Amino acid sequence: MRIGQGIDVHAFSEPGSASHIMLGGVEIPHDRGVVAHSDGDVLIHALMDALLGALGLPDIGHQFPDSDPQFSGANSMKLLASVVGRMNEAELYIENLDATVLLEMPKLAAHREAMIQSISQALGCDQGRVGLKATTTEKLGFIGRGEGISAQVVVLLTSDPK
Ligand SMILES: [Zn+2]
Repeated sequence: MRIGQGIDVHAFSEPGSASHIMLGGVEIPHDRGVVAHSDGDVLIHALMDALLGALGLPDIGHQFPDSDPQFSGANSMKLLASVVGRMNEAELYIENLDATVLLEMPKLAAHREAMIQSISQALGCDQGRVGLKATTTEKLGFIGRGEGISAQVVVLLTSDPK
C-alpha cells in the first residue's frame, strides 16, 4: 500500500468574467473563472499531487512547470493521464481516494456524479473507489469570501490489481 495527499488552491477571477470552472474534468457553470496557468482544475491538481506523493515522485509544479509555455491553458485531464501512466508503470492501482472541495459557490451537488464518473474513468477504477465531498468554510477566510477555491485529496494505492 502507498498513501498520498494533495492540496491545491486557486483564486477566482472577477464576477462576470467567465462562464464556467473546470472541476474533476467537468465544466461547472459559474460567472467567475479560475486564475491559473492551466485550466485551473483544483480537484485534478490536488489529485495529481496525491498520486505523485504516493508514487514518491516530485509534485506537479516539477512535472508540469508554470514557466513552460507548453502547459499554458493545459487540459488538466491530459496531465492526469500522464500521472496515471506513471502509476501504471509502477504497477500500482487505486484502492480508494477521498476528495474534498472547499468553496462557497457554485453548488456542486448536481455535478457530483459527473465528476465521480470523470475521475474514475481517468484513473481506470470503479466509481465506488472515488469519494467526493464539497464543503463551505462558513463564510470564513478567502474561501468564505468567495475569493478562491481549494481541494484536498487523499489517495491509497495498492499493488493488488483485484
Ligand atoms: Zn492548481
